[in-house]
Amino acid sequence: RPLLAEYRARTPGSASAFRRAAAVLPGGETRFVTYYPPYPVILAEGHGSRLTDVDGTEYLDLVNNYTSLIHGNAYPPATAAAAAVLASGAVFPSPHELQVELAELLAARLPSVQRVRFTNSGTEASVLAARLAQRATGRGRLLLFDGAYHGSAPPLLPDGPEVVTVPYNDVDAAREALTEDVAAVFAEPFLGAGGVIPGRPDFLRSVADLARARGALFVLDEVQSLRNAVGGEQTRLGLRPDLTVMGKVIGGGMPIGAIGGSEELLRLTAASTDRGLAHSGTFNGHLTAAAAGAVTLRHLDAPAIGRLDRAARRLADTITTAAAGAGIPATVTRAGSILNVHFTPTAPVDAEQARRAAATPLLSALHLALLLDGVYTTPRGMINLSTALDTNDLDRAALAYAHAFQRLAEAE
Ligand code: PLP
Repeated sequence: RPLLAEYRARTPGSASAFRRAAAVLPGGETRFVTYYPPYPVILAEGHGSRLTDVDGTEYLDLVNNYTSLIHGNAYPPATAAAAAVLASGAVFPSPHELQVELAELLAARLPSVQRVRFTNSGTEASVLAARLAQRATGRGRLLLFDGAYHGSAPPLLPDGPEVVTVPYNDVDAAREALTEDVAAVFAEPFLGAGGVIPGRPDFLRSVADLARARGALFVLDEVQSLRNAVGGEQTRLGLRPDLTVMGKVIGGGMPIGAIGGSEELLRLTAASTDRGLAHSGTFNGHLTAAAAGAVTLRHLDAPAIGRLDRAARRLADTITTAAAGAGIPATVTRAGSILNVHFTPTAPVDAEQARRAAATPLLSALHLALLLDGVYTTPRGMINLSTALDTNDLDRAALAYAHAFQRLAEAE
């Protein structure tokens, strides 16, 4: 309660901007994850590791637009590349060299990718992957893992009629559910939205093998995880998916999605293919995304990823220690540069355990306490790093967590 009162007192501009938004945008927002009570901070600008809200308050950005901004906000090389193509026409009714360049980069980085098909979002890419798997196999069902997020459209919604859902990290459950009508198994290398829960390497490999043995495709959703290794988590985990779903960092901050896979499979998306999917989209392969994405990926090399990984490991350790120091049972799960705080002493291994750990008012209290300390995180406890964060920023983030846990402990 004191946190809420302080939040209201510090964000009058956000309160009125949110009232205006709510009069025309349902719920005052455009993405369900971005809302939290009583109203979200309304952001006005972002530069590097900093965000500024409409009241002029500055925050350290540990959200990076939900993992999509690997080099921070308004990364100058990406904005310059996007601005340059805007001035010369940003989308044409023909393929363009910039699309070819981004596709070449992805194919060079991901061993399982020979061909790339662009969409405008990860959601659209997942839908395309599902349609492609269904067409290629002549089967209808899709096997998903509880807590997975492959976007906000059918058929990849957990309650969809074509979907079977089993717990993550449970090979036996996947084996049982892999019946002869399953077209594809969709897996994330770690549950992203489901709580940043790493897949056990043997789990993902077994599921991939099982899928193939039963004539289904193994689809790896690397929309979040491409930031964690040059060739995606698939190279780290020794996986060779039939299809890879991509998005977020590959557009350098601009809207994008893509699927990648073998020439044989991806051929079904092409106009020149008889009985293909007739896949289209007015803005597919938008050149602002292609240009910003290419420069962003070029700058996301192995040393940069190594630095992010080490910084994330240190921050995870400091947050865990800070919680323990305040006497609050909490643990931090991590996949590369993406972290999630859970209010439980042991790391959850599936979505059900993560949901149970999240059923506490401490989660929103932590979020508000951090905001009041000038650190922008997600309401669900996920944070992620960008290359724009320097050592001082990371120290400041660690201190803010220590301070926040102290406040929570005092309020208990
Ligand atoms: N797949 C995963 C693993 C994601 O994390 C997301 C978005 O958070 C998506 C798919 C959907 O991507 P988009 O938000 O671009 O539609």
